[in-house]
Amino acid sequence: MAADLPDPLDVARDLLTFIDAAPTPFHAVAEAARRLDDAGYAADGLDGAAERGYVIADGALVAWHRGGAAAAPFRIIGAHTDSPNLRIRPQPDTGRAGWQQLGVEVYGGSLVNSWLDRDLGLAGRVAVRSAEGPSLRLLRIDRPILRVPQLAIHLDREVNDRGLLLNKQLHLTPVWALGSPELGGFRRFLADELELDAAHIVSWDLMAYDVVPGTLAGRDDELVSASRLDNLCSCHAAIEALIARPAEATDTAVVALFDHEEVGSQSARGAAGAFLGSVLERLHLAAGGDRAGYLQALASSMCLSTDMAHATHPNYPDRHEPDHQIALNGGPVVKINTNQRYATDASTQARFEQACADAGVPVQRFVSRNDMPCGSTIGPATAAQLAIPTADAGVAQLGMHSIRELCGSQDPALFQRALVAWLT
Ligand code: ZN
Repeated sequence: MAADLPDPLDVARDLLTFIDAAPTPFHAVAEAARRLDDAGYAADGLDGAAERGYVIADGALVAWHRGGAAAAPFRIIGAHTDSPNLRIRPQPDTGRAGWQQLGVEVYGGSLVNSWLDRDLGLAGRVAVRSAEGPSLRLLRIDRPILRVPQLAIHLDREVNDRGLLLNKQLHLTPVWALGSPELGGFRRFLADELELDAAHIVSWDLMAYDVVPGTLAGRDDELVSASRLDNLCSCHAAIEALIARPAEATDTAVVALFDHEEVGSQSARGAAGAFLGSVLERLHLAAGGDRAGYLQALASSMCLSTDMAHATHPNYPDRHEPDHQIALNGGPVVKINTNQRYATDASTQARFEQACADAGVPVQRFVSRNDMPCGSTIGPATAAQLAIPTADAGVAQLGMHSIRELCGSQDPALFQRALVAWLT
C-alpha cells in the first residue's frame, strides 16, 4: 500500500501548480475543470446524466462521480475558491501628486498590511459587448503592474511601536503609472490587453494578486509558502481526491467548490445559496428518482466542509487553546465549535476521524479559546441549507488571510489521502 502513495513533496508541488494557475475564483474553477477533463469527466452536465461530470457557474463548480444505485446517498466535500484581496472598482481611474492610481475595494477579511510593497498582477474576467449580447473573457495580466507602497519609516516614526494603522479608503489605492489620471484609461488598457475596441468593454470582476509564484520553503523543505492556500489547498485536495476515488464506492461522490465564502457565503454561487442543492436534485432526478427519493437520499448523505485551520503560532502561543495545540505536518485538523461556527458534532467528527484512520493519517482537533471569537466557514451554511450532517476539517496553516500564507509540505498529501477515504 505505502509503495503506491505519491511522494508528499510531489503533491505539494502539484498544489503549487494549482495555486499559480488560479489567481481568481474564475481561474480556480477553470484549472479544476482542466484536471477533471483530463480524468475523463464530462463538462457542463446540466442534465446531471453523466456518470462522472461537472458543472461550472461563475467562480463555483460542482463535480460528481455517481455511485452504484440510482438513489445513492451523496458523499460531499465542500471548499471555497475565493480569497481576500483587492478588487478593481467600476470607475477606477484616479490619482494625485503626479501618480495614476486605480481605485480598489477590499474583498473579505484581508490582512491588508500584507499587500504593501508587493508586485501585483491583475486577473479575473471582463464582460465584453458583442452582437450576440455580453460575453465573458478570462483575463490574466501576469506582470507587476500594480503596487501599494508603504509609507517610509521616516514619515511614520512610531509605526513599529504603535502599530501600522491603515485606512482602507485612503491608504490602499495602488499606483500603476506616472502622470495625471486619465478618465477611461483603465478601460482603454483592458481593451488593449484583450485586443478590442474600448467601447466593447462593459464591466469586470478583476482583482490584484501577487505575481511571485509559491514555493517549497524552510530549511528542509518542510513548508509551503504561497498565496491563497486558504482555500485553494482544500480545492486542490478535493478535486484530486474525487479523481482518485475508487470506482467501486457505492455513494455518489460530490465536490462543491463555492465562491464568496470570505464574505459570508450568501450569494448565488455561495455555500448558503441554492447552487449545490439544485445540482444534487438534478443528479437524483436524472437517475430516474423523484423528489421524495431525493429527500431520502439527502437524509442519509454526509458532507465534509474543507477549509484551512489555524496552526499554533510560535510567537503568539497565548492566542491558542493550550490543550489543543495544532502543528504543521501533524495531519488533518478537525474543527469543533459548540456554538456552531463549525458544523462538526460527535457523530461527524467520528466519521471523519474514521476516514483518517482508514487512510493511515494522524488527525488533530482544533477549538478556539473561550475568550477569542471563532472564525467560520462553509460547513454551517451547507449543513443549514441541505440538513446534511457535516464535519469541518482542513490543513493547518499560519498567516491566514495574508497575501502570502504558510502550511506544511507533508499536510496536503495527508489531507488528500483522508479525503479519498471520506469519498470511498
Ligand atoms: Zn477559508
